[in-house]
Amino acid sequence: MNTFVANKAEEKLGDRPTVTTNKSKYRQNETMLALRWHGSRDVRVEEVPVPAITEPKDVICKVTGTTVCGSDLHLYHKEIMQLQKGEILGHEWMGIVDEVGSEVKKFKKGDRVVASFQIACGECSFCKEGLSSMCDRTNSSRLQEKLYGKPFAGLFGYSHFAGGFDGGQAEYVRCPIADVNLLKIPDSVPDEKALYLSDIVPTSYHATICADVKDGKSVAVWGLGPVGLFSCKWSKLAGARRVIAIDRVPARLALAKKMGCHVINFDEQSDVVSQIYKLEPEGVDCCIDAAAFRYTKGLLHTVERTMALETDSSETPNEMLRAVRKFGTISLVADYAAMTNQFLIGALMEKGVTMRGCGQAPVQKYWHELLEKIESGEFDPTIILSHRFKVDEFSELYDAFDKKEHGIIKTFVQTRFSKPPSKGTPQLSSFKAGDIKPSAVAT
Ligand SMILES: [Zn+2]
Ligand SMILES: [Zn+2]
Repeated sequence: MNTFVANKAEEKLGDRPTVTTNKSKYRQNETMLALRWHGSRDVRVEEVPVPAITEPKDVICKVTGTTVCGSDLHLYHKEIMQLQKGEILGHEWMGIVDEVGSEVKKFKKGDRVVASFQIACGECSFCKEGLSSMCDRTNSSRLQEKLYGKPFAGLFGYSHFAGGFDGGQAEYVRCPIADVNLLKIPDSVPDEKALYLSDIVPTSYHATICADVKDGKSVAVWGLGPVGLFSCKWSKLAGARRVIAIDRVPARLALAKKMGCHVINFDEQSDVVSQIYKLEPEGVDCCIDAAAFRYTKGLLHTVERTMALETDSSETPNEMLRAVRKFGTISLVADYAAMTNQFLIGALMEKGVTMRGCGQAPVQKYWHELLEKIESGEFDPTIILSHRFKVDEFSELYDAFDKKEHGIIKTFVQTRFSKPPSKGTPQLSSFKAGDIKPSAVAT
């Protein structure tokens, strides 16, 4: 469905009621830089008004760290319904509390915090179970409700399909229901480690739990973006007997190899399934799809997606269904949006496969536990941190990240409020100055 039709449909259906508004108020005479969506492959850093406390549970944060995520590329390519021109993108951000609403209890000005990418109410039955990503009261998209039966929670900076909230690829962000959606960061954890608690650290951890990764099992991970690479790392930490990492980008494969994974470059070894059976003659116990719907390899799905005969390719799920051990487990952590063709449903049934959609990961269920693992040094998110840029260069960064150029794996984007790089993390690079420092991680 194109964005025009989707937005018209939502207008006709009328928004779902939510407990917090997506229409922020703004401070008088204060401006900031923010990355706004204007169309397919058209995102721009612009000067816009600074958000103000709009509701009593809000906090306004000065952003000290943000980044671009693989899932932002779906927005970049206009593949998410209900995008609107001028939306501020970004769902991975952290910062310093600048102003608190009258009903905020846990935070005060000056606190260092990271936000979960989802905006949860903290009170509905899903929130009470810790399933913050499935909060029932923060996403206004009636269209998503019609499509899926029930929508997931509102997300920062991810289109009106995800609630229409302004995102964190900006110098300031309004965080609704802040007591629920922010986590305080201790001084011992630098920004370059804390930022990734917003999404990729909990999401990858959740993927391995959904795939039932355990001591002594074999694991295969399709797609070595940040979530795929972290899934490899969590699998290793869980005691997996063998981790097979599948991608085509040399820098990513090199990093997986460094972690002790067996790597398959599908540009060189196109029959991934037979490669896996060579290593695991009974098939692999646990499969994780961290690749997503937009990555087609074969002609059939490329044509079908181009002609809008399907929205999502089933190639990766089908490879997993063939490669998985009988009664094994598959988890889909990568984004899938709607419909697919040629899905190998027979293997799903006949091999007794458990196939789990991970959902958007319930960040708040895991983040206390994961902060402890980061603080103790058990898990270091900077193992994949390859580059650092300024917020001014976000549009160039989207382009380079999309093209997988310069060995970029995961970035840290600084603002005027950020501290200098912490010890051992990448120095500032600049597209405009033509000074891209070689990646520290993927050598
Ligand atoms: Zn993300
Ligand atoms: Zn809720």
